[in-house]
Amino acid sequence: QPQIRKFFVGGNWKMNGDKKSLGELIQTLNTAKLDANVEVVCGSPAIYLDFVRSKMDAKLGVAAQNCYKVAKGAFTGEISPAMIKDVGVNWVILGHSERRHVFGESDELIGQKTAHALENGLCVIACIGEKLDEREAGITEKVVFAQTKVIADNVKDWSKVVLAYEPVWAIGTGKTASPAQAQEVHDKLRAWVKTNVSEAVANSVRIIYGGSVTGSTCKELASQKDVDGFLVGGASLKAEFVEIINANV
Ligand code: PGA
Repeated sequence: QPQIRKFFVGGNWKMNGDKKSLGELIQTLNTAKLDANVEVVCGSPAIYLDFVRSKMDAKLGVAAQNCYKVAKGAFTGEISPAMIKDVGVNWVILGHSERRHVFGESDELIGQKTAHALENGLCVIACIGEKLDEREAGITEKVVFAQTKVIADNVKDWSKVVLAYEPVWAIGTGKTASPAQAQEVHDKLRAWVKTNVSEAVANSVRIIYGGSVTGSTCKELASQKDVDGFLVGGASLKAEFVEIINANV
């Protein structure tokens, strides 16, 4: 089966690591045998972005884990896409579940950040996903479509966007969505994109899965038709990340 969408594996280090441990992890990634058909992007804490970019092999991408919606000004503690670009980093993760639910970011703010990041030349890993009570109430589709709409309303060039479906109940819990559960939502998201954006974008946009992905769950998930990669938290800090990158070999 020819690969129409390049497989994408993102690491989300969250607020973990230090120069020593991240330096070692980078060394592991730089020297590992990685599937050349996979795009790899590691999400570093903001303070280490410059360090990580300088140490990481050029074939591996680096992402910030957040950014603000304007270029500069009196926004204590925030970083802008221009600053991220200035240290040679080309990606940003936006709308992560922890930004939404721990830091109270609204759909509207995530949309504004998406627009500003794209306008300033960053590529965006845009995250969506339902909470457990929403899944149990049978409103998964409604929730992820609404989140996707706000993102889509702020995207002009879809080649710069990866959609990450991350059910909140699966993040950091050890409860990976089953391959069938992931495929079902990915299929519906792709259909939503076809109807609301275009068929061409639906065929080309990478929809990646996140939530307790491990070396042992990645292969079957990766074999699902509409799963185009992963966003990996905990396991991205370990050598196991290499196994996940190589899920298709
Ligand atoms: P996890 O995190 O792999 O540790 O569940 C995924 C994420 O938050 O992106």
